[in-house]
Amino acid sequence: MGKKERKMGLRASDTRELVFQNAKVLKSQLLGHAGEGFKIAMSLLDSGRIGIAAQSVGIGRAALEEAVAYAKERKQFGKTLSSFQLTQAKIADMATNLDAARLLVYRAASLLARGEKCTKEASMAKSFASRAANKACYDALQIHGGNGYVREFPVERYFRDVRVTEIYEGTTEVQSLIIAREVLG
Ligand SMILES: Cc1cc2nc3c(=O)[nH]c(=O)nc-3n(C[C@H](O)[C@H](O)[C@H](O)COP(=O)(O)OP(=O)(O)OC[C@H]3O[C@@H](n4cnc5c(N)ncnc54)[C@H](O)[C@@H]3O)c2cc1C
Repeated sequence: MGKKERKMGLRASDTRELVFQNAKVLKSQLLGHAGEGFKIAMSLLDSGRIGIAAQSVGIGRAALEEAVAYAKERKQFGKTLSSFQLTQAKIADMATNLDAARLLVYRAASLLARGEKCTKEASMAKSFASRAANKACYDALQIHGGNGYVREFPVERYFRDVRVTEIYEGTTEVQSLIIAREVLG
């Protein structure tokens, strides 16, 4: 194993490079057939993307819950933050986009569970959910004001944890290439 990476978020999970030097693999330990490794690895991407999309929905919803609780409690100018329409607009967008993301995840997961092709749907779910979750965490932190920027409140961690969902298992840009390829044929 390579060195443990020092990451911005997801610190509960170690990330390391794997280095193979003169590695010998017994025939009995081969996964699939020799020479098909890349194909097998690629075939796992659809399910992996649905997983990251679901992770995004989870982090986004956690951020939404924190934002709602904080907005109901914190008072400024004699009123709770939740009574300000600009706060309400943020909450409404977060809730709507996260619900849409969840439905995209369910659709892709249901296709996968039925053994049907889901490359386009998995990429759509991953791309949309990770962007919705990033925006939700950004807005949840904003609703917390200065408290959002300090480690005492969980939104600071969600903001760091969610960032990678637009990067790993294929970046948002790469998801766009896949979706366009599937749509354009
Ligand atoms: C915490 C963490 C865990 C990870 N875990 C794993 C793992 O378990 N297994 C694994 O294999 N990998 C893992 N990765 C690697 C991850 O999948 C890659 O970082 C990711 O796919 C992006 O590849 P890259 O870093 O090489 O970026 P690059 O490919 O160099 O991309 C850099 C930028 O250029 C853009 N770009 C690249 N190509 C194009 C294009 N054709 N058109 C437009 N824009 C483009 C990208 O969207 C991105 O914005 C992990 C990464 C992190 C951060």
